[in-house]
Amino acid sequence: MPEEGQRAAARHDVTITRTSVHRLLTRLARRRLPGRDEFRCHDCGSPTAPLDGPDEWYCVHDTVWHTAGAREDTILCIGCLEERLGRLLLHTDFPPAVLNQPDYGNHSQRLQDRLRPQSTP
Ligand SMILES: [Zn+2]
Repeated sequence: MPEEGQRAAARHDVTITRTSVHRLLTRLARRRLPGRDEFRCHDCGSPTAPLDGPDEWYCVHDTVWHTAGAREDTILCIGCLEERLGRLLLHTDFPPAVLNQPDYGNHSQRLQDRLRPQSTP
C-alpha cells in the first residue's frame, strides 16, 4: 500500500522535524547557559547576570571604572568594585542610562540601593 506508506512517511517526517527543532532549541539553551555564566565578576567569580536571580548589571562613569583599575572588558560585581574603590558607590557614580534605573530588570538589592539617590535627613 504505497499511499499508506507515503502517509506514514509524511507523519514520520513531521515527527523528525519536531524532534529536530526541539533538539536544536535544547542545544541552544544549553549553549546559552555557559555564555551567560561568563559574565562572572573578575575578582570573586560570582555571576553578575544569572539566568534567574538578581543581577548586578550596570555601568559607572569611566573615571570611577578607571580609578578601580578596571579595563573595558572587566566585569565586577558591586561588592568588588567598592572593595577596589575603598568606598561605597553613590548614585552619582552611575551615568543616566536605562540600565542604571533601580527598577530596571532584576537588580540586586545592594545595586538598587546604590542607584537610588540617598535621602537627605
Ligand atoms: Zn565580585
